[in-house]
Amino acid sequence: MSRLVVVSNRVAPIDEGQPAAGGLAVGVLAVLSETGGIWFGWNGEITPTQPSKPDLTKVGQLSYATIGMTRRDYNDYYTGFANSTLWPLFHYRLDLTQFDQRNFTGYLRVNSRFARALQPLLRVDDRIWVHDYHLIPLGDELRRAGSDHPIGFFLHTPLPAVEILLALPRHEQLMRALCAYDLVGFQTVHDLSAFYDYIVLETGGEVRPDGTVHAYGRTLRAGVFPIGVDAENIVKIAAKHDSSPEAARLKEVLHNRKLIIGVDRLDYSKGLPQRFRAFEAMLEAEPSMHGKVTLMQVAPPSREAVGGYTEIRHELETLAGHINGRFADFDWVPIRYLNKSFDRDELTCFYRHSKVGLVTPLRDGMNLVAKEFVASQNEKDPGVLVLSRFAGAAHELEDALIVNPYDLGDVANAIHKGLTMPLRERKARWRALIAQVRRHDVHQWRNEFLGALERMPDEG
Ligand code: UDP
Repeated sequence: MSRLVVVSNRVAPIDEGQPAAGGLAVGVLAVLSETGGIWFGWNGEITPTQPSKPDLTKVGQLSYATIGMTRRDYNDYYTGFANSTLWPLFHYRLDLTQFDQRNFTGYLRVNSRFARALQPLLRVDDRIWVHDYHLIPLGDELRRAGSDHPIGFFLHTPLPAVEILLALPRHEQLMRALCAYDLVGFQTVHDLSAFYDYIVLETGGEVRPDGTVHAYGRTLRAGVFPIGVDAENIVKIAAKHDSSPEAARLKEVLHNRKLIIGVDRLDYSKGLPQRFRAFEAMLEAEPSMHGKVTLMQVAPPSREAVGGYTEIRHELETLAGHINGRFADFDWVPIRYLNKSFDRDELTCFYRHSKVGLVTPLRDGMNLVAKEFVASQNEKDPGVLVLSRFAGAAHELEDALIVNPYDLGDVANAIHKGLTMPLRERKARWRALIAQVRRHDVHQWRNEFLGALERMPDEG
């Protein structure tokens, strides 16, 4: 079998063996630890000059090829175009989208550097899988550097509707680069439709019934490949937490209160202020719940150098203070707001002992937390998932309580419904959810994407 080369902006720290909080790193590590191959990307270090060659480290059958980045590249490419332009734009936040030509130039420059650093490491029969919005032009740059490998790209974020995409200066250049791949994968059918719409309406290209795309003189495939979690592994870890020391500590802290859990990077796309307000509305409407429930919100800070992130942090601190001030008693604090990250083992313990999993992003490519919550439940007494219709996961997890995160009353009702749902209904919903999470796990995601990459477009 040919070797797999995975490229993502950030390679998970090698010695820690655990990726930082973020769905992409979790998925990529799960794929590569099984297939082996190369993982190429930024090592997280800022260097005074741009290194031309990556550092190579081998761990078992997996080689890490990592490279540093100058402060200027980091500012223009990472903080700039990737996270101040594409991230807000792709999450429908035109109000936060900034465009600066210098950042766009930096974005192209880093993609070109990545391609030139990767090219000498490639073997003739490699397959290359590029991940996420930071690296859209990488395939095109690899082609320019002489690569004729099969190259696939997977977008972990949403692709917004054409009207939103058109607001991006240079959208044409970006979408042309996207078409240099052999296969482009999306999380949901909405993202795929947005891509098709762009091809047909903006490029005069063609989408054939089998999903083959003809645009900019190239033929490629596009498809939906929803990312999953390592369900069996989570099920095993979760069972261990029925009687672990962590579980005992958690129970002691909870004092028999029902736990509602939220786990999100501190990002404006996650709808955290709306979630806190919905919880407040539930407490206001249901005095019988006072003293009986705790909302534990894990929210590790992320991208603090990027505009919009400091504001969301302040807003949440103020809101949590306000709600706790309004409802707390000497022996009860309604919201435990934890501004730090936890490892996935600890999170699994939290999920296992929660009555409600609250996953209410305003927009999310997939949201792996929703799937992890489902996989962590105890089949004899499962918790209830409250899930935003705007998370990619809602396309699959239809048996969750699906809510509109902008509608506080809707979310407040769903929280209450989850807390009071009879066991029989909880079990029925959970059985349907876990079947889905197991069927579409991370292994199936990899197999389907790489299987499609092996089939060349002109084979139809
Ligand atoms: N995560 C973690 N520790 C934390 C918070 C989150 O390990 O403190 C993990 C979480 O378990 C999940 C991932 O980070 O696997 C978040 O992925 P998701 O798709 O939900 O959102 P993203 O951060 O990629 O937008």
